[in-house]
Amino acid sequence: MATSLFDLTGRRALITGSSQGIGLALAQGLAQAGAMVLLNGRDREKLARAAEAVPGAGILPFDVTDHAAARAAVDGHEEAHGPIDILVNNAGVQHRAPLDEFPSDDFERLLRTNIASVFNVGQACARHMIGRGRGKIINIASVNAVLARPSIAPYTATKGAVVNLTKGMATDWARHGLNCNAIAPGYIETPLNAALIDDPAFNDWLIKRTPAGRWGHAEEIAGACVFLASEAASFVNGHTLYVDGGVTASL
Ligand code: NDP
Repeated sequence: MATSLFDLTGRRALITGSSQGIGLALAQGLAQAGAMVLLNGRDREKLARAAEAVPGAGILPFDVTDHAAARAAVDGHEEAHGPIDILVNNAGVQHRAPLDEFPSDDFERLLRTNIASVFNVGQACARHMIGRGRGKIINIASVNAVLARPSIAPYTATKGAVVNLTKGMATDWARHGLNCNAIAPGYIETPLNAALIDDPAFNDWLIKRTPAGRWGHAEEIAGACVFLASEAASFVNGHTLYVDGGVTASL
């Protein structure tokens, strides 16, 4: 009984930004729970290499900032291969600069990649899910949705918006049988954080600041994702699940 609640056998999951880092680890976790996974990113060759690490994975390359491209990819896949039952909106980028010097084109790139993408791919998938009366959408936010840090104000703004768009999705779509929720990871060792991992002062600060006393590993986000993608979360709507080693629990 406990296992079947979390069983994703027969479900197809699209994970955006899954050629590396957290997205790839989420794809591996969902595949382990039985799902057929579709990896997404902009670089087809990188995706093909990543797919070798996930049993049975397919690839669906498109740019999540492009509304029409997302719609065409999702519609095309649904028509040719069948339903996308689970969507994980994971693609995201970071850019660090003092706010008073922050380049406006980078601000807009963050808005497009971190928040417009959640609307673009979420809407493309939800249109099909609503017709079927079921579906799971999981948006990857961050502890920075509620905690700012110097030099990342625009990223903080986009992640706050992800939490609120998740509430909006749940409010509009729960009645159609969709479960829309978010996961807010703490600091995880991935290429996105390469500059911080290489900075001894930041490392010291982070280890002291995190109750768990360490960086998180990408695989440690997968359990929350499997839960939110499964029947175990059938009455969980608009929630943000923090997976952060306790960072948001303490000062
Ligand atoms: P990475 O930089 O390691 O990976 C980002 C992925 O997104 C890559 O696969 C990249 O592939 C893809 N991507 C970027 N832009 C686009 C685009 N326009 N269209 C499609 N795919 C795109 O990031 P992480 O794994 O560290 O982060 C994943 C998510 O988790 C992000 O939303 C991030 O904000 C969030 N997060 C990360 C934390 C961390 O500590 N690492 C903490 C909290 C949240 P490609 O460039 O080839 O397209």
